Amino acid sequence: MSDAIRRVQTDILVLGSGGAGLFAALHAHQAAPQMGITVAVKGLLGKCGCTRMVQGGYNVALAPGDSVERHFMDTIDGSKWLADQDLAWTLVSTAIERVHELENELGCFFDRNPDGSVHQKAFAGQTFDRTVHKGDLTGIEIINRLSEQVWARGISRLEEHRAVELIRTPDGRALAGVLMIDMRTGGFVFVQAKAVLLATGGGPTMYKYHTPSGDKSCDGLAMALRAGLAVRDMEMVQFHPTGLLAGTGTRMTGTVLEEGLRGAGGHLLNGDQQRFMSRYDDRGERATRDIVSRSIFTEMREGRTSPNGGVYLQMSHLGPERVREQFKGMVERCADCGFDLAGGLVEVVPTAHYMMGGVVFQADCSTALPGLFAAGEDTGGVHGANRLGGNGVANSTVFGGIAGDTMAAWVLRHDTLRDPDEEALAAAVAAQLLPFAQRPGSIDGLRESLFECMWNDVGILRTAFGLQRALSTLDELDAQLACTGVADDDRAFNLGWHDWLNLKNLIAISRVIATSALAREDSRGAHFREDHPGTGSLEGSTYIVVSLQGERLQLSREPVRFTRVQPGRTTLPAPAQALP
Ligand SMILES: Cc1cc2nc3c(=O)[nH]c(=O)nc-3n(C[C@H](O)[C@H](O)[C@H](O)COP(=O)(O)OP(=O)(O)OC[C@H]3O[C@@H](n4cnc5c(N)ncnc54)[C@H](O)[C@@H]3O)c2cc1C
Repeated sequence: MSDAIRRVQTDILVLGSGGAGLFAALHAHQAAPQMGITVAVKGLLGKCGCTRMVQGGYNVALAPGDSVERHFMDTIDGSKWLADQDLAWTLVSTAIERVHELENELGCFFDRNPDGSVHQKAFAGQTFDRTVHKGDLTGIEIINRLSEQVWARGISRLEEHRAVELIRTPDGRALAGVLMIDMRTGGFVFVQAKAVLLATGGGPTMYKYHTPSGDKSCDGLAMALRAGLAVRDMEMVQFHPTGLLAGTGTRMTGTVLEEGLRGAGGHLLNGDQQRFMSRYDDRGERATRDIVSRSIFTEMREGRTSPNGGVYLQMSHLGPERVREQFKGMVERCADCGFDLAGGLVEVVPTAHYMMGGVVFQADCSTALPGLFAAGEDTGGVHGANRLGGNGVANSTVFGGIAGDTMAAWVLRHDTLRDPDEEALAAAVAAQLLPFAQRPGSIDGLRESLFECMWNDVGILRTAFGLQRALSTLDELDAQLACTGVADDDRAFNLGWHDWLNLKNLIAISRVIATSALAREDSRGAHFREDHPGTGSLEGSTYIVVSLQGERLQLSREPVRFTRVQPGRTTLPAPAQALP
């Protein structure tokens, strides 16, 4: 197979077709219909990524009695005061116009109250019921409507094209374009673009149990890091407490059983079939995601486990008929895996769900590299130490739209294609071909070792000892991967090759997570250090920034700027005083 590079040019290149990528493409097209816009995606447009998997819904302050200020305060409290307050404000204030846009311009139809207003349900960690939804298939509604609009507007698509490296200009001052692999042929493609959006959706798929879609392997974060960009808050990995645990033979293991089950009164039982949550938190099963995950993990570590090594979820005491009616989708999903959710016990385990950390970016989605923009789960700072359920899809759609507007305006001001550093491009091609130069070996074993390492030592409960052990294991795994080859018999849909590249990126980002977790000597939100269980001073809060200098990770601590509200204060108006 030839290693020749096919060259493509476009004004705007969007990497990823989740909520962030598709919104960016549509906004850029609306702002500048004359521009060439291309969406390049590892999977099929409309069929991949996590936005499609959104079950619960979308947080937005729409209802009388709610307010943007209140949504903001919930987000800041949830972030344990680590969020960038300007980013969080942009999220909550723009979510309103984005939801109206989804319904009134793009054709989504969310569930309604009897009076015709949009139904908003409760979600953990919020002081108001503000989660807009379409049953428990909200993401499918959003992505289907967005995809239709992208198809209808003639936006170009490069499907099953995997971005592998961001290529700078020869002077290194700006981005020239992106090297990709056309997965259908195995050939290389260089897409030269005036503006590029990184919207590949992060995705903590380096953990033994995880929820995100299989196409996500932190590619965008790894590319950004290698291109010299800084990432922040990478120690903040959110675990969802109730992932389905159906054994090792099925990809259903790790997928989410929604929070509403516990909210409705579901019980968690350990391997001795005893409820345990009240020993950890007065709210029992209704405690927040981080607390429930830690409690389950502790039961598991102390050996009180179900046959597959987790705990049980029990709903039958609520009445099997009611459970069947209220949680139809969940009951069917559990039945597919041999569990009776309505009448019996289902095995569950905490599962890695979301990365709060990501590329350092500004509220207009620009980054430190001219020509590169970022949005969605690839970015850091919006959620601080913890993301509220319902703020994820709000994040991707809000900032995706902003990125589209910003890129269109940027291209009008910088209307030239920049030449790439050809040496860097050739080196990037060579780096992708490394596995073909080694003797073929087993990648599966290395992936399993990564899963175990991250789950045991960089997971729900962390210690300095465990994190240091993880860092040495990750070095060993990287060295082993470098010597493990892939057969070069056919590069078209060569899954072994893509597994190798996935693993390379996952190991790189796992190192950043472990390094950041070791540096953060306190416990906040999703990050819990058994050797540093205190929260630390909120007023003196710092966030951790990591970048790559040569082969080494460089770390700094930046003070959180409380630009809108100080710890202990609120942006909410004081309650009105009663008249005497
Ligand atoms: C099961 C589940 C349920 C969830 N439920 C909710 C919920 O109820 N409410 C909520 O707010 N959030 C929820 N989330 C989180 C939410 O899905 C994400 O926060 C959000 O959708 C991320 O959007 P995104 O556009 O950044 O990324 P994604 O939607 O994940 O899209 C990423 C895109 O990038 C592509 N890609 C990846 N790598 C490459 C590459 N190298 N080259 C080219 N393309 C690439 C992928 O194929 C995909 O198209 C849930 C997540 C999961 C997994």
